[in-house]
Amino acid sequence: MRAVVAHAAKDLRIEELPDQQIGEKDVRVRIAFGGVCGSDLHYFNHGGFGQVRLREPMVLGHEVAGIVEEIGREVRRIKVGDRIAVSPSQPCNQCRYCLEGQQNQCLDMRFYGSAMRFPHIQGAFRETLVCRQEQAHVVAPGVSLGEAAMAEPLAVCLHAARRAGPLLGKRVLVTGAGPIGALCVAAARRAGAAEIVITDIADGVLDFAARVRPDRIVNTAKEPDALSAYAHDKGYFDTLFEASGAAVALRGAIDVVRPGGALVQVGLGGDMTLPINVIVAKELQLRGTFRFHEEFATAVEFIGKGLVDVKPLISATLPFVEARQAFELAGDRSRSMKVQLQF
Ligand code: ZN
Repeated sequence: MRAVVAHAAKDLRIEELPDQQIGEKDVRVRIAFGGVCGSDLHYFNHGGFGQVRLREPMVLGHEVAGIVEEIGREVRRIKVGDRIAVSPSQPCNQCRYCLEGQQNQCLDMRFYGSAMRFPHIQGAFRETLVCRQEQAHVVAPGVSLGEAAMAEPLAVCLHAARRAGPLLGKRVLVTGAGPIGALCVAAARRAGAAEIVITDIADGVLDFAARVRPDRIVNTAKEPDALSAYAHDKGYFDTLFEASGAAVALRGAIDVVRPGGALVQVGLGGDMTLPINVIVAKELQLRGTFRFHEEFATAVEFIGKGLVDVKPLISATLPFVEARQAFELAGDRSRSMKVQLQF
């Protein structure tokens, strides 16, 4: 079985790996498609991010879908031949946070393609993958496996929408128009947002983001003052989804979110300096959001019922043996949104 393995920054190899052992409650999946995520790009371009560094070779990838080719003896819910999206999240289901229903905060989380712990948790960009049956989510007939592989980033955004609180009739600003920003638009709309404005500094991703039908698209590099009109009377937006990880985006948004509004920080950035006095005086609510749990199943259901259309966000599909080219393409925001590998 071949896999896409990161050894160090810019050192990505297609390698032969032994097949994984299948347990009684596991399924073996022939992977069909895998989406390249921002974290994969960080490992590829920089060998990691922040304190998280590659310390051994690691199979990348955590946005995958495929076809079940073998099941363990105790598997009942999944059959051979089922088309599934695979949740990359493996909480321990035993720690205090898991038992309290906060599995995304698990103290013993094993998340595919992550160097947060050592040994690293190997990822899912491989021809076949053994996963636990509860990670397998059957997708509706008629949904392509490429679309199914979008369930993971959509789940991230559905969790972000949940963190934002009720969105019915709300005015929403999304900063950052990559796949996560675009899917935050889709998630906010599905949750009932009345008006959604999305910003970025690159026309390429904004053109793709237009396909999820925000009300307004703003290139803040070309129109640096475009948001200033929203700052009147202490702000206009009820909710911000900050999906760029850029300090300047969050700083700018603080002026245009109305008193009492929520700032949902989705993007990971470095340390930032924030105007605490403004946050205090406007009673703004700064909220983190991290991964997902039950939202994965919701994402699969939304995609299956056509309630969220992820297809327009898949900008290219390359054979996995061309992973290096695919990663270079995925990092080019002038012409890419979501790039997927085909296995
Ligand atoms: Zn746990």
